[in-house]
Amino acid sequence: MVDHNQKLLQELQKRSGNNVCADCLNPDPDWASYNLGIFICMRCASIHRGMGAHISKVKHLKLDRWEDSQVQRMKEVGNVTARNKYEERVPPCYRRPNRNDPQVLIEQWIRAKYEREEFCHPERQSYLSGSMQGFLMKRGKEDSRYQLRKFILSETEDTLKYHVREDKEPKGVLKLSELNVAFAPPKIGHMNSMQLTFMKDGTTRHIYVYHEEPEVISNWYTAIRCAQLHLLQVAFPSTPESDLIHRLPRDFAREGWLWKTGPRPTDAHRRRWFTLDNRKLMYHDEPLDAYPKGEIFVGNESNGYCIRVSNTGNGCKEARFPFQLVTPERTYCLAATTHEDRDCWLAVLQQTIKRSLTPQDSTIEAVLVRKRNTSNPINIFSGR
Ligand SMILES: [Zn+2]
Repeated sequence: MVDHNQKLLQELQKRSGNNVCADCLNPDPDWASYNLGIFICMRCASIHRGMGAHISKVKHLKLDRWEDSQVQRMKEVGNVTARNKYEERVPPCYRRPNRNDPQVLIEQWIRAKYEREEFCHPERQSYLSGSMQGFLMKRGKEDSRYQLRKFILSETEDTLKYHVREDKEPKGVLKLSELNVAFAPPKIGHMNSMQLTFMKDGTTRHIYVYHEEPEVISNWYTAIRCAQLHLLQVAFPSTPESDLIHRLPRDFAREGWLWKTGPRPTDAHRRRWFTLDNRKLMYHDEPLDAYPKGEIFVGNESNGYCIRVSNTGNGCKEARFPFQLVTPERTYCLAATTHEDRDCWLAVLQQTIKRSLTPQDSTIEAVLVRKRNTSNPINIFSGR
């Protein structure tokens, strides 16, 4: 039987602001933190519980018994009031997670809000200073072992460097403004891991890092975004901040195995790991390779880019669902193993082709096309 308090709670939950999770905006939350006075989803409730009852006291709206004073607290606060308090000073570079984002992002967002109260006390936001240094575990380029490396971020130098030994020259110098950072936990196999992707000598390079402490990896991620936003603001002073934020690092639109073959019916199928990073479709032998075997720029439909779906494969048992990516220079014959997987790839590639190019996209296109037209020994476009 629904008692009076549960009925009141259900009415409160329907109010604007309370009808989505206070932390990840998941619709119809059926949990609450009754000391904070917020309505939250099941996933966020378990993170709240993990912080301890001295921070957040969690109850189910229907399955738990509620005291009058607890319901009163929910009525007094609610998601809108709590957001005004706990999110008052969220820096624009901070990635506000949504319900589909990796666990580390959501958990650190919640801990930053209520445990560390970073957005009530901006002096606690160590990632805003434009410089950061510390140790991260980095995967070796040739072997798969992770080793401790010192990383140094400098906004004034526009660099992220890493050192094998602190007293020696850096082993790698990455241009901060051209760096993409993506969360890729399932692939790396570590919850608190990031993939750094950047261009070096006209070719993409991937670096994989992790840290045992989720807060550390989250701070590095935000520090990189923050420094990048500042650099963008200097480079494009008249562009509104809201537009610049769209150019900050984003997770890959899609990753997974596909089959790739040549244009002739006799060409063999090869299984490749594909990654769509904004407009760059890369393929690799293995998911954690340091370099892609090939890179395809996915331009706009008005420039001759399109997708074609073929109905039949050409004999390879697993490459059952073929499609073609047509670029002005070449047609790429690809295939997925399942119908669903092909649909997902088609959808994400179609979206990319329909989207108009930003100035940054054009720069990448110029680099990749120049690369294709030079007789470089590492011809990234001849890779199969
Ligand atoms: Zn949630």
